[in-house]
Amino acid sequence: MKPKRLRTLAALRRETARWRAQGLSYAVVPTMGAIHSGHTELVTQGLKRADRVITTIFVNPKQFAAHEDLGKYPRDEEGDAAKLGKAGCHAIYLPSPEDIYPQGFATTVSLTGPAKAGLEDKFRPHFFDGVATVVAKLFIQTGADYAMFGEKDYQQLKVVTRMAKDLDIPIEVVGIPTVREADGLAKSSRNVYLSAAERQQALAIYRNLTNAAERIRSGMNPQAAARAAARKLSSLGFKVDYVAARNAETLLLPKDANEPLRLIAAAWAGKTRLIDNIPV
Ligand code: AMP
Repeated sequence: MKPKRLRTLAALRRETARWRAQGLSYAVVPTMGAIHSGHTELVTQGLKRADRVITTIFVNPKQFAAHEDLGKYPRDEEGDAAKLGKAGCHAIYLPSPEDIYPQGFATTVSLTGPAKAGLEDKFRPHFFDGVATVVAKLFIQTGADYAMFGEKDYQQLKVVTRMAKDLDIPIEVVGIPTVREADGLAKSSRNVYLSAAERQQALAIYRNLTNAAERIRSGMNPQAAARAAARKLSSLGFKVDYVAARNAETLLLPKDANEPLRLIAAAWAGKTRLIDNIPV
């Protein structure tokens, strides 16, 4: 299938109005492009729930800080369209910055709760307000029934779920398990930045999270297991931003032994920041 490319908000609205007139449901898959099999899995899962899937590609300047990789973020519209088409995606929304941030734009979604868990927010202070603002706009602009998000960005999944609920946006946010390389590395658009040696090193994140989860399941204190994993990653040459064991829903520090837990990590392999997480 060749997905229809919608380059303006008006074109998006015409297409979605047509779907609605035919009584079709549809899911949205928000992305920043550089499509890989993690993203196409979101399309596949969207197709299981809805009649149509629309992927959005927008590299959102508001979620990058000045020193981050906005300028060099990988962009390949033709490659992305081919991969999305193969996955069965019906349309791609490629808004211009003006469609998202028209002249005079003055509104930002401001968050607390899971957005202030002291994880990503501690290292990227403006990140989630930027994400939530653009995601709220994409939910409203598309009017989709479902929004597909990866567990790969676990805090983001919790933040947008909360945001949609709090703002009464009638969309069901669906979280999809992380797609990994055969050796366990979480698929990410940023993996292309890794040198061969860093690519090898990067495996240690998933390995050490898995190891920590096993230790917790066999009785080790979750915080001690997280600290041990962080120390191990540091000793392997990573600059570790955090390894945390948190309540899987609230992202708060767990208070008792029966809470569902998530192990969440962010660490730098050279100049590339990698994130990953697993259930305990
Ligand atoms: P991005 O890569 O930042 O454009 O992410 C777009 C969406 O794809 C987000 O919901 C991510 O969580 C999701 N995603 C990215 N990588 C993966 C992966 N390896 N497995 C599942 N979902 C992913």
